[in-house]
Amino acid sequence: MSAMHKVPESHADWQAMAGALRFETRAFINDAFVDASSGVTFETVNPATGDVLARVASCDAPEAEAAIRHARQAFNTGNWSRIAPSERKRALLRLADLMECHKHELALLDTLDMGKPVTSSMGDMAGAISCIRYNAETIDKLYGEVAPTGEDSLGMILREPLGVVASIVPWNFPLMMTAWKIGPALAAGNSVILKPSEKSPLSALRLAQLALEAGLPTGVFQVLPGYGHTVGQALALSMDVDCLSFTGSTQVGKLLMQFAGQSNLKRVYLECGGKSPNLVFADCKDLDAVATNAAAAIFHNQGEVCIAGSRLLVENSVRETFIEKVLEAAETMQPGDPLDPASFMGAIVDRTQYQSILDYIRRGVEEGAHLRVGGEATNEESGGLFIPPTVFDGVTPQMAIGREEVFGPVLSVFGFDTEEEAITMANDSQYGLAAGLWSQDIDRIMRVTRRLHSGQVYVNNWAGGDMTMPFGGVKQSGNGRDKSHHSLEEYSELKSVWMALT
Ligand code: NAD
Repeated sequence: MSAMHKVPESHADWQAMAGALRFETRAFINDAFVDASSGVTFETVNPATGDVLARVASCDAPEAEAAIRHARQAFNTGNWSRIAPSERKRALLRLADLMECHKHELALLDTLDMGKPVTSSMGDMAGAISCIRYNAETIDKLYGEVAPTGEDSLGMILREPLGVVASIVPWNFPLMMTAWKIGPALAAGNSVILKPSEKSPLSALRLAQLALEAGLPTGVFQVLPGYGHTVGQALALSMDVDCLSFTGSTQVGKLLMQFAGQSNLKRVYLECGGKSPNLVFADCKDLDAVATNAAAAIFHNQGEVCIAGSRLLVENSVRETFIEKVLEAAETMQPGDPLDPASFMGAIVDRTQYQSILDYIRRGVEEGAHLRVGGEATNEESGGLFIPPTVFDGVTPQMAIGREEVFGPVLSVFGFDTEEEAITMANDSQYGLAAGLWSQDIDRIMRVTRRLHSGQVYVNNWAGGDMTMPFGGVKQSGNGRDKSHHSLEEYSELKSVWMALT
């Protein structure tokens, strides 16, 4: 059996499969795989080894213009936008089945491209596939409304697709973030142009092959690999894109809002950064289990997670005991080869991000925080970019590591004495993406939950939830909601039809 057909289980299986992989590197426009018209390409590098994986088409304005033209044509033709939702459902379920069939390969592409452990990528695939299925299954069960009017009129409220949606996504969960965007946008009947991150384009291009095989009509789904300031910006400034759905940094999110204002006031849905507080009260049931969860909340995916529990707020009466337990848990979460199913953490996505994380650690020390563990690069003999779990105690909100999104495996621990103090510290952030609290006191849980200014609140868990729950932030963490049927609402327009009856 060839390495591509064997179900990989061991480290050696994944290595063999990686060796046998072939990459699609061209853009997908109007059902064809094409090079950028300029012939320019960019490198995509495996951060766990430093090896160049492939050179990928670097799209720019001409590719954006072509893709937008074809997307509009497809939308106007109506063979996706105006067909029965049950037909769109069938095509999307075919796509989900194909993703399921190729999930090991898709997971491997993400792991090679951006360094996350392959077991983690497999979890992402489950999330991505369930998202496509959820939206496919939901779309033919949504009804319009009839307004409560008198007999002399009929008021109908219809939901219609928006038109051309450009989805711009990041590298930390490449295929899962893609699915969260394209699932509802396609199900609602839009034509979708996907721009993956220049740091992780490979799974999106494989997905394009699967979409072709699933029989999505021409021009309904297209993929443009390339940089943000080139092809991303061309999409954002277009007069003929109706909606930008974005996941990425707050800084770029702000830019996209400006681009929408400078062009056609396209809808802009943003899922941006975070600096999420995780509150541990002394009354919680099992401090060992909570400490393991608190460590995983920051060290999962190398800390490159928008909802990383990067601010740990611990009641002072148990703080030192609790930190000791977090350090013990962190010891078991060391980085290793992402292809080894035993690795908890993998490599940092690229040298820029790696350097930025190490700079934050240096600033933490300079600003007077107490480095309890980690802080130095590791596994350098691999040629890859690895940073171990790093924990700072005695952090204050004024310090960079206490305030800014590090997007790496760096935990900042704060102490508090009262519930009120904990809530004030938790909310003292420009971000409002996620927050967690651990306690056995139901009155406290309800009081604190209501007052946390955050899109998600996790009670006695971190990052729980499935497709039924909306996901998004408040404040500078963004304004959109992925997942659940609420995300479908973002990709459709309300039309009010008032009929005068005689
Ligand atoms: P980023 O903002 O640098 O890039 C995100 C995407 O935007 C990429 O595809 C990039 O090419 C594109 N882009 C960059 N400049 C652009 C421009 N001028 N015009 C158009 N597009 C442009 O973010 P990143 O480094 O890829 O991802 C990390 C960030 O994403 C973190 O801040 C993280 O918190 C956030 N994130 C948020 C969520 C969420 O759901 N809230 C989920 C995952 C990641």
